[in-house]
Amino acid sequence: MTFKSLGLSEPFLKAVAEKGYTTPSPIQQKAIPHILEGKDVLASAQTGTGKTAGFTLPVLQYLTNTKHPKYRPLRALVLTPTRELAAQVYENIREYSKYVNIKSTVVFGGVKAAAQIKTLKQGVDILVATPGRLLDLHDQKAVSFKRIDVLILDEADRMLDMGFVRDINKIISYMPTKRQNLLFSATFSKDIKKLANGILNNPVAVETAPQNSTAKKVTHKVYKVDKKRKTEFTIQLIKDNHWSQVLVFTRTKHGANKLTEKLIKANISAAAIHGNKSQGARTKALKNFKDNTIKILVATDIAARGLDIPLLPHVINYELPNIPEDYVHRIGRTGRAGAAGEAISLVCSEETEYQKEIEKVLNEKLKTSIIEGFEPQDTAPPKRAASQSKGSFGKKKKASNSNSSQGNKPKRKPHFKGKKPTNTSGLGRTGAPKKKRY
Ligand code: AMP
Repeated sequence: MTFKSLGLSEPFLKAVAEKGYTTPSPIQQKAIPHILEGKDVLASAQTGTGKTAGFTLPVLQYLTNTKHPKYRPLRALVLTPTRELAAQVYENIREYSKYVNIKSTVVFGGVKAAAQIKTLKQGVDILVATPGRLLDLHDQKAVSFKRIDVLILDEADRMLDMGFVRDINKIISYMPTKRQNLLFSATFSKDIKKLANGILNNPVAVETAPQNSTAKKVTHKVYKVDKKRKTEFTIQLIKDNHWSQVLVFTRTKHGANKLTEKLIKANISAAAIHGNKSQGARTKALKNFKDNTIKILVATDIAARGLDIPLLPHVINYELPNIPEDYVHRIGRTGRAGAAGEAISLVCSEETEYQKEIEKVLNEKLKTSIIEGFEPQDTAPPKRAASQSKGSFGKKKKASNSNSSQGNKPKRKPHFKGKKPTNTSGLGRTGAPKKKRY
């Protein structure tokens, strides 16, 4: 299959060839012909699948081939959840529209609006935007949606997670009802289906991977690690393996900052990227990470959403996300474009439940091991439960209450088998086991 056989014309074939793409990716093969036909599309695709070119190329071709008034009203709008994703989509649009007469721009919050307003006033064919800033600009009459022909919602699931549903509906309410709609999402919750039903018109469903599955070439590894020693373990992992480009996920902004500081102290170049960082700092961190000026990028889920980092070999989940679908998104950053990737998760005792939830979503057990010297120290609840019942954490708690620490020595859980037992007494709060000193 070639890009030409999908129906793309010469200027786009040339732009794609310059990017070095020889074969269209599965999402591109499936989506491009439908989009060129003007159909609404509901696409299940995560970052790393080539989805951006999948919608950008056919939309640009449509815009190029249709007449428009001289003042260039806005005819296509791409909505994205984050500034980074908006910037990346825009970058793609610029590259793919290199050989055609199309004007494009991007608007997002966190930067001054004046320059954005000026560019919009000059007329653009296609705009990439985050919802909040776009509505502000619309309120200021800097942009009109009256001539929109194509609406694209990119990473729609994340837009819902971030609470943009009202903004999206408001933006749509200013558009003509007759238009083409494309909705891309990595996961399909009830809310996404509801949004899709309200927007899409008789859509063609395009799927590249089974729902909620991660890229095939990703190896998942879970290391059971003591909560207090995760930083030390991360440093060791990076140093011992001589890793030079790793994306690390933390659950909180504060956690991202703290870890970054410690990595730098350990002589590992790193930067944090999260919602409290200025746009300038985020862009700089991403650029430095991409050109290898820094080795480690520590990110929170929202900030990392949609980051375009090709061929990322390693992703570390310093903490597991509490929303299992976020694991799928995180892993989307590795093993892309056919290359193998490794997703490593550091899981302390209290995150065991999150792991189970993730395994349910993936429909796959994650390979779990314990590294000697880093064993979780707070294993009392699961151990007690092992001797009592195989139930959930809730049950385990009950079991531990009824089984007062009277020297009743429970058996170790099988997954600790063969590893150096660090807390064999099984004693709880009252009889604290001797802890190793590190
Ligand atoms: P995306 O899923 O749109 O973020 O794209 C992921 C990465 O794949 C980007 O770095 C693209 O430049 C790259 N890419 C997109 N389409 C292709 C293709 N057909 N062949 C090789 N790489 C591609």
